[in-house]
Amino acid sequence: MTKIAKRVFDTLILGAGGAGLRAALQLSQADAQVAVVSKVFPTRSHTVAAQGGVNAALANVSEDNWHWHMYDTIKGSDYLGDQDAIEYMCRAASKLVYELEHYGVPFSRLDNGKIYQRPFGGQSQNFGASQATRTCAAADRTGHAILHTLYQQNIRAKSHFFDEYFAIDLLRDDEGTFLGALVIDIATGEPLVIEAKTTFIATGGCGQLFRTTTNAHINTGDGMAMALRAGVPLQDMEFFQFHPTGIAGKGMLITEGARGEGGYLLNKDGERFMERYAPNVKDLASRDVVSRAIATEVREGRGCGPKGDHVMLQIAHLGADVVKKRLPGIRDLCQTFLHIDPIDTAIPVFPTAHYVMGGIPTDRHGQVVATFHDGPEEVVSGLYAAGECACVSVHGANRLGGNSLLDILVFGRAAGNQIIKHLKEHRYHKPLQEDAIDKAMQRLERWDKKGEGESVATLKAELKQVMENHCSVFRTAVVMQEGVDEIKKIRERLKDARLQDHSRVFNTSRIEALELENLVDISMATMLGALAREESRGAHSRIDFPTRDDKTWMKHSLYHLDGDRLDFKPVRTKPLTVETFPPKERVY
Ligand SMILES: Cc1cc2nc3c(=O)[nH]c(=O)nc-3n(C[C@H](O)[C@H](O)[C@H](O)COP(=O)(O)OP(=O)(O)OC[C@H]3O[C@@H](n4cnc5c(N)ncnc54)[C@H](O)[C@@H]3O)c2cc1C
Repeated sequence: MTKIAKRVFDTLILGAGGAGLRAALQLSQADAQVAVVSKVFPTRSHTVAAQGGVNAALANVSEDNWHWHMYDTIKGSDYLGDQDAIEYMCRAASKLVYELEHYGVPFSRLDNGKIYQRPFGGQSQNFGASQATRTCAAADRTGHAILHTLYQQNIRAKSHFFDEYFAIDLLRDDEGTFLGALVIDIATGEPLVIEAKTTFIATGGCGQLFRTTTNAHINTGDGMAMALRAGVPLQDMEFFQFHPTGIAGKGMLITEGARGEGGYLLNKDGERFMERYAPNVKDLASRDVVSRAIATEVREGRGCGPKGDHVMLQIAHLGADVVKKRLPGIRDLCQTFLHIDPIDTAIPVFPTAHYVMGGIPTDRHGQVVATFHDGPEEVVSGLYAAGECACVSVHGANRLGGNSLLDILVFGRAAGNQIIKHLKEHRYHKPLQEDAIDKAMQRLERWDKKGEGESVATLKAELKQVMENHCSVFRTAVVMQEGVDEIKKIRERLKDARLQDHSRVFNTSRIEALELENLVDISMATMLGALAREESRGAHSRIDFPTRDDKTWMKHSLYHLDGDRLDFKPVRTKPLTVETFPPKERVY
């Protein structure tokens, strides 16, 4: 075998979305040698698609404080979120948004020049008393503004980018310390070893598990699957958020900001049905509540259109000026994909797969924590994670809109700081053994085998359909057990799959195959977690177990790839400085 090229850095960051770039910036500004690897050009990472905004209790529009934000986040999480991490995030929010303002993010402005804020679902003043206005926005392109600004700041700070490189697997020594990753240059197919004292996973979500999703094609959960293969479990994977307002049948997102600005949902009788499901806050109830309401309307025959398979989102009454100023991207999407103008026509919407609450278990410093040998949970040496691929857990069983952009900033930065500490204490590189590299290479070489076999594209389409049919908004044991069996079959068939059309699109199809392997492992984590959790909490709704069961299920699930094993760990209910918010019935 030809010798594989090697580069050496202090830190390897896998992923150039908001989480990766915020951590990279922290490190480069501290003069660490940082490599950032991204399978797409950094500013095409999914963070760019975030529309509605980022939460911080700036109180620019109405009275607000971080303690109310903390309460809302815990209630939104259906009491599964870890309260220490939530306190940490909500306290840090304002500082991080002002920091972005100074880096140059072009936030929309109020007449008095302050950052514009809009109300989002699940936000309240005074611990549930009235609606708060907490989401800081740059029109409906907030993620775009943030990602471009962070990228520019990284260029200035001299972070080193490996654009369009695909990470295959993590590299680890015999003692369990993580020492970098094997990546390939997508354009040439050349492998490269990036050796580092610390490795930070920021590879984003896995919305590609489902047929209908708001997520980009790149969101295939690669980092989560890499962690699984390295023996790290995935936490709370049964909690997948379905956004209430995806464009019906297509999946593109219509931001919650549309309802924040005053839009509302209608069924076929023209009824504002959310008044029945959430009498107080109506269309601005938490996402899981609104998604279930829409699915119920459709199931009970009150859906719109010839097939009765969606409801309508009305924003026309807001007037052309508001739509053009505050929701220009939404208008654009409707004109491009539906050939309608929401200034005069309602938008057909249905819940669509949006966000994974679960992920790689970490503490609030971004350190990956795991149990390797049945012992107590410990910090995994040299391995860090943050962003959608991680589970801190601040979102628990259901994430509030606007809290994910916040999560990636807060924990990207925290991980950066923790890595700086680590680098000060570990000045020298540990040796990297060749057999770790060989093992990672085998994964790549498996797809060099030629011959007849099923296509990756067919298996991927089947997997996404299985997830959509068997693990969607409403779930039951029978349907999910069938889902587990289907995934097992796909997992077997994948072993005999072969790449089609080697000559023309060799590298990109090899990458699609590697991505599918990742998706299969993650779909099993999701389905088995969902089957095991016999209660309804947050985004996880069991028709056969319709209520929340705090006695048995106030705990996080952990899925281990080895033997498809599940175990559990307690929720951290103690905040850092304030009183615990004990579980209450969740009404909006
Ligand atoms: C349409 C949409 C709208 C949203 N709107 C909002 C909103 O308004 N407010 C909010 O708070 N949240 C919103 N979210 C959620 C939020 O945007 C995401 O959760 C967040 O941006 C994820 O950031 P990240 O840094 O974790 O990952 P991402 O931004 O997804 O970045 C992942 C990075 O990892 C890289 N990568 C992945 N796998 C590999 C690999 N194998 N090799 C190399 N590189 C790899 C990718 O190239 C990319 O650079 C929205 C999400 C979507 C899909």
